[in-house]
Amino acid sequence: MIMEEARNKIVEYGRKMSSDGLTPGTAGNISIFDPQTGYMAISPSGIAYDKTKKEDVVILDLHGNVIDGDKKPSSEHGLHAAFYRTDPEARAVVHTHSMYCTILSCMGEPLRAVHYAIAEAQCSEIPLVEYHTFGTPELADAAARALRKKGRGLILQNHGMCAYGPSIESAYGLALTMEWCAQVQWHCMAAGKMNILTDEQMQVAMEHYKTYGQVRADGTRPQGYNG
Ligand SMILES: [Zn+2]
Repeated sequence: MIMEEARNKIVEYGRKMSSDGLTPGTAGNISIFDPQTGYMAISPSGIAYDKTKKEDVVILDLHGNVIDGDKKPSSEHGLHAAFYRTDPEARAVVHTHSMYCTILSCMGEPLRAVHYAIAEAQCSEIPLVEYHTFGTPELADAAARALRKKGRGLILQNHGMCAYGPSIESAYGLALTMEWCAQVQWHCMAAGKMNILTDEQMQVAMEHYKTYGQVRADGTRPQGYNG
């Protein structure tokens, strides 16, 4: 079975995404990229996370051709491929409709530096990607354009969020951090007062983040940033 380890992680993190309350129902999807083969493993379309088995995970190339699997791949496989084509260091992508990121996306708001924890995304603001219909090449192209500017996260207008990184652990950790930051921002906006950190303050936070906590050999951390 090709990409067996990636398949197992997609099953494991899909369950976590559901039990951590990061996404409702079967919404959202996870992928892992193998630079050796140029293939990505992605969660199947419309199967509940607690029912997904490793055989259900679909292996595709970055042009959308199915290499292995008899299930339909996630409808957002083109969006996931856009990350791997845009950043050669991307190894995993998490896309969810988590509540607070989705609220900001429906308000037409980027994720701002209301808390320094956003430094985990290696940028001081997570951009809002203009609205396009889900599952379309237009959405994937708009995401790729926003990604070229920097940072490891996106808010998709009237849709949800994406996070990526050098491993599934780091992409998933960032998805959790983005959801927490979005919740903080939403509460600040609801209270009518929000103090946004300056670019200089965020640059310092990003430098600190690089040396903070337990760092694995691949530069990732076991969990989301909690410093
Ligand atoms: Zn979606």
